[in-house]
Amino acid sequence: MTRHSPKIGVYGFTGCAGDQLMILNCEDQLVDLFGATEIRSFVMAKSDNHEGELDVAFIEGSISTEEQLKRLKEIRERSKVMIAIGTCACHGGPQSMKLGENKFDEMYKKVYGNAKIAISKAFEAQPIDAFVKVDMYIPGCPIDKAEFLGAVTKLVAGRHPYLLKAPVCLECRWKENPCILYSGKFCGGPLTKAGCGAICPSMNLPCVGCWGPTDDLNASSEYNLLKEKGYRSEEIIQKMKKFGGAKMAKLVAEFDKKEAKA
Ligand code: SF4
Ligand code: SF4
Repeated sequence: MTRHSPKIGVYGFTGCAGDQLMILNCEDQLVDLFGATEIRSFVMAKSDNHEGELDVAFIEGSISTEEQLKRLKEIRERSKVMIAIGTCACHGGPQSMKLGENKFDEMYKKVYGNAKIAISKAFEAQPIDAFVKVDMYIPGCPIDKAEFLGAVTKLVAGRHPYLLKAPVCLECRWKENPCILYSGKFCGGPLTKAGCGAICPSMNLPCVGCWGPTDDLNASSEYNLLKEKGYRSEEIIQKMKKFGGAKMAKLVAEFDKKEAKA
Protein backbone atom coordinates (compact mmCIF):
# COMPACT_ATOMS: atom_id res chain seq x y z
CA MET A 1 0.00 0.00 0.00
CA THR A 2 1.44 3.37 -0.86
CA ARG A 3 1.23 6.03 1.80
CA HIS A 4 -0.12 9.30 0.45
CA SER A 5 2.19 12.32 0.59
CA PRO A 6 0.98 14.65 3.34
CA LYS A 7 -0.38 17.95 2.08
CA ILE A 8 1.59 20.70 3.76
CA GLY A 9 1.21 24.47 4.03
CA VAL A 10 3.79 26.91 5.41
CA TYR A 11 2.49 30.33 6.47
CA GLY A 12 4.06 33.42 7.98
CA PHE A 13 2.53 36.12 10.19
CA THR A 14 4.25 38.74 12.38
CA GLY A 15 7.92 37.80 12.59
CA CYS A 16 11.14 38.08 10.64
CA ALA A 17 10.46 35.07 8.34
CA GLY A 18 13.66 33.47 9.69
CA ASP A 19 11.96 30.12 10.28
CA GLN A 20 10.71 29.88 6.70
CA LEU A 21 14.19 30.86 5.59
CA MET A 22 15.62 28.10 7.80
CA ILE A 23 13.38 25.57 6.02
CA LEU A 24 14.69 26.81 2.66
CA ASN A 25 18.17 26.58 4.09
CA CYS A 26 17.78 22.78 4.47
CA GLU A 27 19.61 22.71 1.11
CA ASP A 28 20.63 19.04 0.95
CA GLN A 29 17.32 17.78 2.32
CA LEU A 30 15.04 20.22 0.49
CA VAL A 31 14.56 18.04 -2.60
CA ASP A 32 13.67 15.05 -0.39
CA LEU A 33 11.33 17.22 1.65
CA PHE A 34 9.51 18.51 -1.41
CA GLY A 35 9.48 14.97 -2.85
CA ALA A 36 8.05 13.26 0.24
CA THR A 37 5.33 15.84 0.81
CA GLU A 38 2.91 17.82 -1.30
CA ILE A 39 3.70 21.46 -0.54
CA ARG A 40 0.37 23.13 -1.24
CA SER A 41 1.32 26.57 -0.04
CA PHE A 42 4.67 28.16 0.79
CA VAL A 43 4.75 31.71 -0.53
CA MET A 44 8.44 32.20 0.22
CA ALA A 45 9.39 29.09 -1.77
CA LYS A 46 7.07 28.90 -4.77
CA SER A 47 4.52 30.85 -6.78
CA ASP A 48 1.83 28.22 -7.46
CA ASN A 49 0.14 28.23 -4.08
CA HIS A 50 -3.26 26.73 -3.33
CA GLU A 51 -5.88 26.87 -0.61
CA GLY A 52 -7.75 23.70 0.34
CA GLU A 53 -7.44 20.93 2.92
CA LEU A 54 -4.07 20.29 4.56
CA ASP A 55 -2.62 17.47 6.62
CA VAL A 56 -0.16 19.80 8.33
CA ALA A 57 0.01 23.59 8.55
CA PHE A 58 3.26 25.09 9.80
CA ILE A 59 2.72 28.58 11.20
CA GLU A 60 5.46 31.12 11.76
CA GLY A 61 4.98 34.44 13.54
CA SER A 62 2.67 35.88 16.14
CA ILE A 63 -0.79 37.31 15.46
CA SER A 64 -1.10 41.08 15.62
CA THR A 65 -3.96 42.22 13.36
CA GLU A 66 -7.63 41.34 12.83
CA GLU A 67 -6.82 40.31 9.26
CA GLN A 68 -4.12 37.86 10.42
CA LEU A 69 -6.48 36.43 13.01
CA LYS A 70 -9.14 35.76 10.37
CA ARG A 71 -6.56 34.07 8.15
CA LEU A 72 -5.17 31.94 10.99
CA LYS A 73 -8.64 30.67 11.90
CA GLU A 74 -9.38 29.89 8.28
CA ILE A 75 -6.12 27.86 7.96
CA ARG A 76 -6.90 26.03 11.22
CA GLU A 77 -10.32 25.00 9.92
CA ARG A 78 -8.86 23.25 6.90
CA SER A 79 -5.79 21.67 8.62
CA LYS A 80 -5.72 18.34 10.43
CA VAL A 81 -2.58 19.28 12.37
CA MET A 82 -1.25 22.73 13.17
CA ILE A 83 2.38 23.19 14.20
CA ALA A 84 3.77 26.46 15.55
CA ILE A 85 7.30 27.04 14.25
CA GLY A 86 9.62 29.57 15.82
CA THR A 87 9.40 31.41 19.10
CA CYS A 88 7.04 34.15 17.81
CA ALA A 89 4.34 31.62 16.88
CA CYS A 90 5.01 29.47 19.98
CA HIS A 91 5.37 32.18 22.63
CA GLY A 92 4.74 35.58 21.01
CA GLY A 93 8.39 36.53 20.48
CA PRO A 94 10.04 39.90 21.21
CA GLN A 95 6.99 41.80 19.89
CA SER A 96 4.87 40.44 22.72
CA MET A 97 7.36 40.87 25.54
CA LYS A 98 5.09 43.39 27.27
CA LEU A 99 1.96 41.30 26.88
CA GLY A 100 -0.23 41.53 29.97
CA GLU A 101 1.19 44.91 31.04
CA ASN A 102 -1.63 46.89 29.35
CA LYS A 103 0.82 49.18 27.59
CA PHE A 104 -0.14 48.51 23.99
CA ASP A 105 -2.09 51.75 23.31
CA GLU A 106 0.68 53.84 24.84
CA MET A 107 3.39 52.05 22.83
CA TYR A 108 1.33 52.20 19.63
CA LYS A 109 0.87 55.94 20.04
CA LYS A 110 4.58 56.46 20.63
CA VAL A 111 5.37 54.83 17.28
CA TYR A 112 2.44 55.89 15.09
CA GLY A 113 1.17 59.04 16.81
CA ASN A 114 -2.36 59.80 15.59
CA ALA A 115 -1.83 58.27 12.15
CA LYS A 116 -4.76 56.17 11.00
CA ILE A 117 -3.65 52.70 9.92
CA ALA A 118 -6.39 51.65 7.51
CA ILE A 119 -5.12 48.19 6.44
CA SER A 120 -6.28 46.16 9.40
CA LYS A 121 -6.89 46.87 13.09
CA ALA A 122 -3.73 46.06 15.05
CA PHE A 123 -3.51 44.64 18.57
CA GLU A 124 -0.68 43.47 20.80
CA ALA A 125 1.08 40.49 19.22
CA GLN A 126 0.20 37.12 20.76
CA PRO A 127 1.25 33.50 20.20
CA ILE A 128 -1.05 31.55 17.90
CA ASP A 129 -2.39 29.34 20.70
CA ALA A 130 -4.09 32.41 22.15
CA PHE A 131 -6.59 31.95 19.31
CA VAL A 132 -6.49 28.42 17.89
CA LYS A 133 -5.64 24.87 18.97
CA VAL A 134 -1.96 24.06 18.39
CA ASP A 135 -0.94 20.41 18.08
CA MET A 136 2.79 20.84 18.37
CA TYR A 137 5.42 23.49 19.06
CA ILE A 138 8.84 23.71 17.41
CA PRO A 139 10.39 26.79 19.03
CA GLY A 140 13.62 28.57 18.19
CA CYS A 141 14.79 31.92 16.91
CA PRO A 142 15.11 30.65 14.31
CA ILE A 143 14.13 26.96 14.50
CA ASP A 144 16.84 24.33 14.39
CA LYS A 145 17.20 22.52 11.08
CA ALA A 146 17.65 19.08 12.69
CA GLU A 147 14.62 19.50 14.99
CA PHE A 148 12.44 20.60 12.07
CA LEU A 149 13.58 17.83 9.72
CA GLY A 150 13.24 15.23 12.49
CA ALA A 151 9.64 16.30 13.09
CA VAL A 152 8.74 16.31 9.38
CA THR A 153 10.35 12.89 8.84
CA LYS A 154 8.23 11.42 11.63
CA LEU A 155 5.07 13.09 10.33
CA VAL A 156 5.67 11.74 6.83
CA ALA A 157 6.12 8.25 8.35
CA GLY A 158 2.79 8.67 10.18
CA ARG A 159 4.47 8.85 13.60
CA HIS A 160 4.20 11.47 16.30
CA PRO A 161 7.27 13.74 16.44
CA TYR A 162 9.07 13.99 19.77
CA LEU A 163 11.09 16.98 20.95
CA LEU A 164 13.46 17.00 23.90
CA LYS A 165 11.67 17.94 27.15
CA ALA A 166 14.52 19.49 29.09
CA PRO A 167 16.22 22.84 29.66
CA VAL A 168 19.26 24.09 27.71
CA CYS A 169 21.39 23.17 30.75
CA LEU A 170 21.04 19.49 29.83
CA GLU A 171 22.55 20.00 26.38
CA CYS A 172 25.16 22.26 27.96
CA ARG A 173 26.14 19.47 30.40
CA TRP A 174 26.33 16.99 27.51
CA LYS A 175 28.88 19.31 25.92
CA GLU A 176 30.78 19.58 29.20
CA ASN A 177 30.80 23.39 29.08
CA PRO A 178 31.84 25.23 32.23
CA CYS A 179 28.67 26.76 33.73
CA ILE A 180 28.39 30.51 33.10
CA LEU A 181 26.33 30.99 36.28
CA TYR A 182 29.42 30.08 38.29
CA SER A 183 31.37 32.92 36.72
CA GLY A 184 28.89 35.42 38.16
CA LYS A 185 26.94 36.11 34.94
CA PHE A 186 23.23 35.50 34.42
CA CYS A 187 22.39 32.61 32.09
CA GLY A 188 18.82 31.74 31.14
CA GLY A 189 19.61 28.09 30.32
CA PRO A 190 17.79 26.67 33.37
CA LEU A 191 14.44 28.14 32.24
CA THR A 192 14.83 27.71 28.49
CA LYS A 193 13.67 24.79 26.39
CA ALA A 194 16.45 22.63 24.95
CA GLY A 195 16.82 22.04 21.24
CA CYS A 196 19.50 24.44 20.05
CA GLY A 197 22.36 22.27 21.26
CA ALA A 198 23.34 24.94 23.85
CA ILE A 199 24.98 27.00 21.10
CA CYS A 200 25.54 30.15 23.15
CA PRO A 201 27.06 28.69 26.35
CA SER A 202 29.25 26.54 24.11
CA MET A 203 30.77 29.83 22.93
CA ASN A 204 30.91 31.19 26.47
CA LEU A 205 27.86 33.40 25.86
CA PRO A 206 24.92 33.34 28.27
CA CYS A 207 21.62 31.91 27.02
CA VAL A 208 19.06 34.69 26.50
CA GLY A 209 16.16 32.26 26.23
CA CYS A 210 15.36 32.37 22.51
CA TRP A 211 13.80 28.85 22.55
CA GLY A 212 11.20 30.09 25.06
CA PRO A 213 10.16 28.49 28.37
CA THR A 214 11.20 24.93 29.11
CA ASP A 215 8.55 22.25 29.60
CA ASP A 216 10.79 20.15 31.83
CA LEU A 217 9.06 18.70 34.87
CA ASN A 218 11.98 19.74 37.09
CA ALA A 219 11.93 23.33 35.88
CA SER A 220 11.01 24.69 39.30
CA SER A 221 14.24 23.31 40.81
CA GLU A 222 16.17 24.78 37.87
CA TYR A 223 14.48 28.08 38.70
CA ASN A 224 15.58 27.77 42.33
CA LEU A 225 19.16 27.47 41.10
CA LEU A 226 18.84 31.00 39.69
CA LYS A 227 17.36 32.22 43.00
CA GLU A 228 20.24 30.59 44.88
CA LYS A 229 22.62 32.58 42.70
CA GLY A 230 20.95 35.74 44.01
CA TYR A 231 18.62 36.66 41.15
CA ARG A 232 15.18 37.98 42.14
CA SER A 233 11.97 36.90 40.35
CA GLU A 234 11.41 40.36 38.80
CA GLU A 235 14.96 40.39 37.47
CA ILE A 236 14.58 36.88 36.03
CA ILE A 237 11.30 37.79 34.32
CA GLN A 238 12.82 41.01 32.98
CA LYS A 239 15.76 39.13 31.46
CA MET A 240 13.77 36.21 30.12
CA LYS A 241 10.59 37.74 28.75
CA LYS A 242 12.36 39.09 25.67
CA PHE A 243 11.57 35.79 23.96
CA GLY A 244 9.35 33.95 26.42
CA GLY A 245 6.96 36.90 26.81
CA ALA A 246 3.90 36.44 28.99
CA LYS A 247 4.41 32.64 29.09
CA MET A 248 7.77 33.05 30.81
CA ALA A 249 6.30 35.54 33.31
CA LYS A 250 3.51 33.03 34.04
CA LEU A 251 6.00 30.18 34.52
CA VAL A 252 8.06 32.19 37.03
CA ALA A 253 4.88 33.27 38.89
CA GLU A 254 3.81 29.60 39.17
CA PHE A 255 7.20 28.62 40.63
CA ASP A 256 7.02 31.47 43.16
CA LYS A 257 3.53 30.33 44.18
CA LYS A 258 4.73 26.74 44.56
CA GLU A 259 7.67 27.93 46.69
CA ALA A 260 5.43 30.11 48.88
CA LYS A 261 3.18 27.08 49.57
CA ALA A 262 6.10 24.78 50.45
S1 SF4 B 1 23.17 27.88 33.37
FE1 SF4 B 1 23.86 28.28 31.25
S2 SF4 B 1 26.04 27.80 31.26
FE2 SF4 B 1 25.15 26.88 33.11
S3 SF4 B 1 24.65 24.79 32.53
FE3 SF4 B 1 22.82 26.03 32.17
S4 SF4 B 1 22.96 26.67 30.02
FE4 SF4 B 1 24.99 25.94 30.63
S1 SF4 C 1 21.59 28.92 24.05
FE1 SF4 C 1 19.70 30.02 24.56
S2 SF4 C 1 19.87 32.00 23.48
FE2 SF4 C 1 21.39 30.60 22.57
S3 SF4 C 1 20.35 29.68 20.81
FE3 SF4 C 1 20.05 28.29 22.58
S4 SF4 C 1 18.08 28.93 23.48
FE4 SF4 C 1 18.77 30.59 22.14
